[in-house]
Amino acid sequence: MNDKALVTNIQRFSLHDGPGIRTTVFLKGCSIHCPWCENPENLLPYPEEYVKDGKKGIYGEYLSCDEIYSEIIKDRIFYDQPDESSELGVQRGGVTFSGGEPLLQFDVLGPLLAKLKDENIHICVETCLFVPEDKLSIALKYVDLFYVDVKILNGDKCKNVLGGNLKQYMSNLDFLFAAQKSVVFRIPIIGGFTDFSENVTQIVRLLKKYNPIKVEIIKEHNLGKNKYHSLGKEPLELNKITDEDMKHIKDEILTLSGITVEICKV
Ligand code: SF4
Repeated sequence: MNDKALVTNIQRFSLHDGPGIRTTVFLKGCSIHCPWCENPENLLPYPEEYVKDGKKGIYGEYLSCDEIYSEIIKDRIFYDQPDESSELGVQRGGVTFSGGEPLLQFDVLGPLLAKLKDENIHICVETCLFVPEDKLSIALKYVDLFYVDVKILNGDKCKNVLGGNLKQYMSNLDFLFAAQKSVVFRIPIIGGFTDFSENVTQIVRLLKKYNPIKVEIIKEHNLGKNKYHSLGKEPLELNKITDEDMKHIKDEILTLSGITVEICKV
């Protein structure tokens, strides 16, 4: 049992991680390893040294539940501002847990979610959903909105490229929707990895099966380049995706499923 979670950042005034004004907590360590990951500092579950502009630092700081809570609560005044533009039927801001995979650090996250819910704070979790079902089942009690990644839906490719067990992912999706949770699907469009037609067809099948409250497609944008360099690593060169490619995929999904997706700039 860990009494501290490994946190890389607590970002205040986030406007893209859920409705309203949010505080986003980034937890370090992920259950899969997407080759295009734009948060390489959040992949490994231990602190890592970096060098940026000749200066050294450490990605990751161990914080207790109370320490994270007291940082979050400082922003509380912003959470109740009405969000007129929200399409999600949720009118206020709150806290978002991201990463990495936030549900992996459940020893601290579990009590923290309970504490935030006691204060009636709106909670979002951004998850790749390659997580044990028992953790998810506790999170269900507290989390108001899940942002779930949809990436590669072929079992072998999912295992070989991401290191993920597709059966676990699908079973967790069934579990989330059976519990009638609010779910937004986020689909990264990554040249050579997620944009091929067989994958898009499988994504369409998934959307038709679950009918989430919102679907976003996101274009890869190499924002993690400097972070890779700060860790002494080289980011992968990806096949370029154009705005036309994004529109084509959006139109294809609409034609095949009748579901409108939003091209999202995260
Ligand atoms: S799930 Fe997210 S954080 Fe984890 S490796 Fe993939 S892109 Fe990176």
